[in-house]
Amino acid sequence: MGTEQREEARKKRRRRTDKHKAWRQEAIAYWSTRVCESDIGCDWNEADIRCWRCGCMRECQKCHIIPRSLGGLDFTPNLIPLCAMCHDEMPNVLDASAIWLWIKSDHGVMHDTYWVMRGMKESGLTLKQVARIKPRKLNQTLSRAGFHFGQNAGGIRLTTATLAWVFSTAWKESMTKKQILNATEARDGD
Ligand SMILES: [Zn+2]
Repeated sequence: MGTEQREEARKKRRRRTDKHKAWRQEAIAYWSTRVCESDIGCDWNEADIRCWRCGCMRECQKCHIIPRSLGGLDFTPNLIPLCAMCHDEMPNVLDASAIWLWIKSDHGVMHDTYWVMRGMKESGLTLKQVARIKPRKLNQTLSRAGFHFGQNAGGIRLTTATLAWVFSTAWKESMTKKQILNATEARDGD
């Protein structure tokens, strides 16, 4: 690629980025006066760099509140930035209020912990149990887990089910035979 071509590619990329930022800034200006900050996954002053649902600092996609397939328009009152994982889970219905109820009912509370907490919840372990797993054991178990190549803009990621497996496997392998026996007896005694 020649210098001119490279320069043109760079300009094109910048135009794309600016366009991306413009719709997002407009969405922030619009929604920040209509939606309470405590009902979403991030503060309004970080709404340009975080997913509005999980609150994680990830590349976000332009998501349509009323989906295009149901006639949703490509204009600010119908747009929200979500990461690829949240985009996959959002409600696709002809009811604009559904998205805010969905976010309000379950969103990130502490920065960048939402998906780890989801994995932990799915594993059935408590926070106290997870805290007892040695970091070395977690790392060893993680080395047996693979990344999921999701939607293009989502990048590589561990799915919730993978994280749940990592937690439960690391926990099981951390327990001694005696602890397993006790846990089984306690369960059977229920
Ligand atoms: Zn998200």
